[in-house]
Amino acid sequence: MESGKMLYEGKAKRMFETGDPEILLIEYKNSLTAFNAQKKAEMEGKGRYNTLISAWLFGYLSEKGIPSHFLKLVDDNHQLVRKVQILPIEVVVRNITTGTLCKRLGVPEGMRLPRPLVEFYLKDDALGDPLITDDHALLFNWASPEEIKSMKEKSLAVNEVLGDLFRGKGIILVDFKLEFGRDSEGNVLLADEISPDTCRFWDATTGERLDKDRFRKDLGDVLGAYREIWKRLSGKEE
Ligand code: ADP
Ligand code: UDP
Repeated sequence: MESGKMLYEGKAKRMFETGDPEILLIEYKNSLTAFNAQKKAEMEGKGRYNTLISAWLFGYLSEKGIPSHFLKLVDDNHQLVRKVQILPIEVVVRNITTGTLCKRLGVPEGMRLPRPLVEFYLKDDALGDPLITDDHALLFNWASPEEIKSMKEKSLAVNEVLGDLFRGKGIILVDFKLEFGRDSEGNVLLADEISPDTCRFWDATTGERLDKDRFRKDLGDVLGAYREIWKRLSGKEE
């Protein structure tokens, strides 16, 4: 794949222009970051698993009627996606309490919530991605009322589809983060990535953490967890 100028380098990915102004090439890096990039590491092979897992999940969501920016897998580290204007909001959906929710509110870890909790965070690394309300998003023009409604509905739909998918693979979908963008017609489109970097996955039998918490909490064998998620999705032994 001929890639053009690099438009952006983030913590986990690089975005390149292509010959088509509507299409971007994403390169997944091997970098791992946590706690607003205060903790960093490089892990050979991580970018490949996230590329493959994210492409697989976006393909699955599309089959289930949830479209996204994903167009095509180019190779083990690159995807073509539809270029969107990313809304400055990270949507987190939680099924089980853990992570910053417990730290912030003092609620116990590991509680299954009576229904999924949807939270908005402002996408701003310098501010540490603070939790915001719908009203902040509206009043500061980060999203319109229709966009807020659409992001919530789509996030809950993703939770349903992926929750069922992972349950069938012996994995509990604990929580995850989504990003959305505006496409050229102004529609809200699911974007960015869905991978063990952006989701929490617990083995349904053993409770083993199969996601970036292995890195956050120094649990060891981070790559093995990502490999396990890919194995359960693809059915391929590596
Ligand atoms: P970060 O910016 O948090 O360090 P990444 O390293 O994952 O994150 O960088 C990818 C960047 O590309 C993110 O800012 C993300 O919002 C943005 N992005 C994801 N999908 C698209 C898309 N389809 N069009 C434009 N930008 C996108
Ligand atoms: N998450 C993410 N990017 C972020 C913050 C959170 O992908 O910048 C994901 C995280 O992997 C988890 C969920 O969103 O699946 C909820 O994360 P939490 O708020 O508990 O924060 P964290 O512990 O990741 O800092």
